[in-house]
Amino acid sequence: MVFHNSFRLAIAIRGAVQGVGFRPFIYRLANEIGLLGWVNNSTEGVFIEIEGTPEQLESFLLRLKIEKPLRSHIQSIETSKLEPIGYKTFEIRVSIKGQKTAVILPDLATCSDCLKEIFDSTNRRYYYPFTNCTNCGPRYTIIEALPYDRQHTTMKTFQMCTGCETEYKNPLDRRFHAQPNACPQCGPHVELWDDTGKVLDKDRAAISATAIAIRQGKIVAVKGLGGFHLIVDARNKQAIKLLRQRKHRPDKPFALMYPSLELIKEHCQVSALEERLLQSSQAPIVLLKRKEKDNCDCLIAPGNPYLGIMLPYTPIHHLLMAELGFPVIATSGNLKHEPICIDEREAIVRLKGVADLFLVHDRPIVRPVDDSIARIIMGEETILRRARGYAPLPILNRQFKQSISEILAVGAHFKNAIALAIGDQIFLSQHIGELETPQAIEAFETVITSFQQLYDFQPKIIACDLHPDYFSSQYAQNSGLKVIPVQHHHAHVLACMAENQLLGETVLGVAWDGTGYGLDGTIWGSEFLLVSPNRRDGFQRVAHLRPFPLPGSDRAAQEPRRVAIGLLYELFGARLFAEKQFQPWLRAFSEAELAILSKILLNRINAPLTSSMGRLFDGIAAISNLCQIATFEGQAAMQLEFALDQLSTNQVYPLLLQTNQIDWRPMLLAILDDLSRGVTVNLISAKFHNTLIDAIVKIVQKIEVKKIVLTGGCFQNKYLTEKAIDKLRAAGFCPYWHKFVPPNDGGIALGQAIAASREISHTNN
Ligand code: ZN
Ligand code: ZN
Ligand code: FE
Repeated sequence: MVFHNSFRLAIAIRGAVQGVGFRPFIYRLANEIGLLGWVNNSTEGVFIEIEGTPEQLESFLLRLKIEKPLRSHIQSIETSKLEPIGYKTFEIRVSIKGQKTAVILPDLATCSDCLKEIFDSTNRRYYYPFTNCTNCGPRYTIIEALPYDRQHTTMKTFQMCTGCETEYKNPLDRRFHAQPNACPQCGPHVELWDDTGKVLDKDRAAISATAIAIRQGKIVAVKGLGGFHLIVDARNKQAIKLLRQRKHRPDKPFALMYPSLELIKEHCQVSALEERLLQSSQAPIVLLKRKEKDNCDCLIAPGNPYLGIMLPYTPIHHLLMAELGFPVIATSGNLKHEPICIDEREAIVRLKGVADLFLVHDRPIVRPVDDSIARIIMGEETILRRARGYAPLPILNRQFKQSISEILAVGAHFKNAIALAIGDQIFLSQHIGELETPQAIEAFETVITSFQQLYDFQPKIIACDLHPDYFSSQYAQNSGLKVIPVQHHHAHVLACMAENQLLGETVLGVAWDGTGYGLDGTIWGSEFLLVSPNRRDGFQRVAHLRPFPLPGSDRAAQEPRRVAIGLLYELFGARLFAEKQFQPWLRAFSEAELAILSKILLNRINAPLTSSMGRLFDGIAAISNLCQIATFEGQAAMQLEFALDQLSTNQVYPLLLQTNQIDWRPMLLAILDDLSRGVTVNLISAKFHNTLIDAIVKIVQKIEVKKIVLTGGCFQNKYLTEKAIDKLRAAGFCPYWHKFVPPNDGGIALGQAIAASREISHTNN
């Protein structure tokens, strides 16, 4: 029956609206208000048609926005009024196909309702490690294609039992259309394997046996959501030593998983925001300040005042941690520069000799997704590694002009991630890692292929780094597509601008990092770039550090002592090797090494020039004898940051600012003087940081731009970032920094996609 005062409303909702219980919510809401019509899922979003009185329709739209499911995120709601056609019921219609721009949801940590069930002995899901619902569970790691339906996930081989199917079909159930819905009767199971793949235990017994093995100091590889973890008892020094030996990882901090927030609070300072972050559905690893300083000598994160800690985020982890009751190391199940293992058969081969036992399950993981890492900077979260819980949500930017072509951006070399620009959205992939091994390169290519399949996307343009030797750049050159190379620091600045909604403006970008190929073929890394939307060339390089040589080129990145000698050589020239007074600064090298280094530097062979800020940090760390040889990327710079140790001082070193160069030589002379007078590293580090922050303020004051964008790996440094923000604000500037896109090279692909899109629109105009 068509009422004369009734209308039909067609509603299109875009955003993260699939796999979060959106359709059942619409169904319930429409029924409550008494509206007729239908709702469906398409690859583009959720579509609704409803008929009712204007009051009913208005109430629907209002309540839709207020009561929408917890995990959903609405990007846009479009409505159009139509003639009523007299719907008789309200129904949920089957998904339809269309252009694939629907937002794929990231994996979500176990919700409190599901958690209650797995610990309730009367519940049919008691102790079931794959319990999930529309508010939680796997998404991105199990999706093979869009739209998000069970047959397009790795759950397709598990036929739901009647109990599960009833829940799945009941619009009023928490598991209505929960695609990975499962129970002990019909779903996946866990098994404990020895290192040959022999089954030792199953189900609950497997988890209990795993807990026993961990207590005994064994290293257990545990298959979780986005891949394997290597788990050992964090209290067992011998076990940690063994893990470090087997993983060939002497110093790099390990992440921890704690059984409860209460226990984290016993060991670390936890602010209200950090607490929320730990318990959020993203459940990242959060860098937390330790309570006791002397614990810094521990093997988990040597010399590091912070610990990277996460809470359990799948039922497997919850069940295991409940049996253990103490913190464990939960580090990625991989070897150096390789992606994490996702397949149990592959794991027993690749992790042979590393893990003693394997806790595995039969729900396949489509793609590796690491744990994300977050740190609080200026009272807000900054994502340092963007993966589980965050990827592949698009970076929303209303100023990003619809790209004329579809663009694939392949990122940089370290901390690689890729991006796709489709229409007005940019999808940034999960962290892939260093493209240093065949396995990592394979993962890189797999992520590109699977992203293209998911979004049904054929790029016409490929954006890459300017560095000709990066694997990603070569991949672009060999793709047969039109290639747009993007300068590394330009990409950093654009990435930070994008997440701060600054793409329409002119900004001064401060892009400081370890390495990035410059327009002049040298290695840049202390860039002040003027970036504006109207510049055809994209940016103007307005200032940078005075360049210095890197003896041994790439080896200098692993050996801060080489950077130190490069800096000292710039200061003293050939006298450095000839005069006795300089000998104390050369003690990190043997006679033979010094003979080679002096030749390299005197003849300028294999000693490329750099203006890298990251390398300056390394060099100063080595000169201060904090770190001569690094065993992981960023180690020396981190140690220099940690040397600060809450010291509060405004002292600075002298610097010489020339038109477009920051001459660090007066500072280095003063540091050497401080060192020879026995000034503590603590104070030297503080003065060094303050000097650089001062330099930022002095340089931006010369340029008539208010908005300052801080980006690049150096701005993972909390002190540097926070104090720079404070000083810039005090001087009347508006500083911006990273929050949801990593400041390091994990954000490069996003910037590349924007740069390429700008370049295309400039050439078309
Ligand atoms: Zn749940
Ligand atoms: Zn079932
Ligand atoms: Fe970089």
